[in-house]
Formats: sequence, structure tokens, C-alpha cells
Amino acid sequence: MSTNHIIAVANQKGGVGKTTTAINLATAMAAVGKSVLVIDLDPQGNASTGFGIDRASREITSYDVVLGVAAMADAIVETSVKGLFLVPSTVDLSAADLELAEMPQRNYRLKQAIEKVVSEQHFDFIFIDCPPSLSLLTLNALVAASGVLVPLQTEFFALEGLSLLLNTIQQVQGALNPDLEINGVVLTMYDRRSNLSAQVEEDVRDYLGDRVYTTVIPRNIRVTEAPSHGVPVLMYDHSCPGSRAYIQLATEMLKRTGTSIAA
Ligand code: ADP
Ligand code: MG
Repeated sequence: MSTNHIIAVANQKGGVGKTTTAINLATAMAAVGKSVLVIDLDPQGNASTGFGIDRASREITSYDVVLGVAAMADAIVETSVKGLFLVPSTVDLSAADLELAEMPQRNYRLKQAIEKVVSEQHFDFIFIDCPPSLSLLTLNALVAASGVLVPLQTEFFALEGLSLLLNTIQQVQGALNPDLEINGVVLTMYDRRSNLSAQVEEDVRDYLGDRVYTTVIPRNIRVTEAPSHGVPVLMYDHSCPGSRAYIQLATEMLKRTGTSIAA
């Protein structure tokens, strides 16, 4: 059995494109024949909504899984994308941080749940959509992950707050998960007509070097529209600039993780 790549999509800033990236990168991976699981670890449940999983279908959620009330295998639901499965979340998850704080092994709950599920079923890629905070939930994701992907919105303050995230990653590497790698940083909502985007890109590449993906995700109205239809943009309009960028990002990630395209 080939290695599972477990990618935490993390940035404590909200609105930078974490969920959009998790949904569409996962969909692009499934499109090339990979088996993929998305774990919605944000109480806002945007990844669940983005895949069209309505509230009534979220019977067992990531909340039950991290608290150990249910096995992850029982929380997994099918999505409309072939080969792509989801562990949904609801607003219940917002209580998890306080409850986890009281629990033994509080940083390892998600890791243990994932280890159990991957001993029973195979996924080539698992993407964890993190909440916009450096909370215990995000820590659980970083402890469970093999790599972290950081979306950065291409705006003036793109790098602000990044050192806090990088410090957290370093602490996790030092104490809780020595195998954690920074898979990469991806620029999102890039505006090709704007000098500011080009300037921000240059600054980010200067500062972070080859950790930054060559692919940038353009700002694209189709990307914004897709979630309201409950489908990834790749299923909504597979040839729009946003879709093409996410396919390119997936191709680059396959190379970075040493995974062949063939399933
Ligand atoms: P996060 O999960 O980091 O909070 P989201 O992925 O939810 O961020 O994105 C925030 C908002 O920006 C959403 O409304 C989303 O539809 C929009 N958005 C994300 N990426 C793009 C893009 N490439 N082009 C246009 N809108 C985007
Ligand atoms: Mg989100």
C-alpha cells in the first residue's frame, strides 16, 4: 500500500482560501484517480456545505470523532465527486476546543482517529480543512498531518501573522510531530492585472523561496459562485481559470509528494 499523504490546510487568518483550496485540490486529485478524504475541521462547516452535504446528512461529524464518541469510519460520507469522501462538521465543533483541553492525549485525538481509519481503508490523500485559529483543533491537524499547506491571500498584509504560524509548526515539529513538513505555500486570489499582486508575489517568493508553489490561484468569480451550488468549481465550470489553476496545483503537489499520476 502506498503512503498516505495527510495535508493540513492551515492559516489562522480567515478568508484566505483554505476551504476553497481544500475542496478543489481534493477534487483535482480525485479527478486523476486518487482516493481522497476531506476532513472538515472548521465549525463553520464550509467544506461540508461546499460539497453539498446538507445539515441533515451530517449525523456523525468531526466533533464526534475528535471527542472519541464515534469512529471516523462512521462519520465518512460520500460526495458527488467520484472517489472523494468527507468527514463533515457542524457548529457543534466550536465546543471541541474547551472539551479537548480537559482530555488526555488532547493533541493526538485526530491522529489516532486517522490511524484507525487508514488501517481499514485506503486513501491516497487526506486533506484537513482547518479553522481560522491556532486552536487545539489546528494543533490536532498539525499533529496528524505529514505536510502542511498554507494558503496566502495575495494582498498587502499577506505575510502578516505568518511567522506565528511558522513558529507553531516548528513547535509541533520539535515536540509532537517530528515528521511534519511544510508541503508548501500557495498564493490565492491573485489578480493578474494588479501591480499589487505582482509585488506581493515577489515579496512572498523572496521571503519563502521554493516553499512557494509556482502555481498561483487567480481571483475568479466562478470560484466564488461554485459553493452556492454545492459543488467544487471543477464540477461547476471545469475550464474556468480557477479550475485550471487547481488542476495545476494538484499536479505540482503530486510531484512534491513524489506521487505518480497513475493510481
Ligand atoms: P478560508 O477557508 O481561509 O476562510 P475561503 O476558502 O472560505 O477561505 O475563501 C474566502 C472567500 O473567498 C470565500 O467567499 C471564497 O468563495 C472566496 N474565494 C476563495 N478563493 C477565491 C478565488 N480564487 N477567487 C475568488 N474568490 C475566492
Ligand atoms: Mg474555511
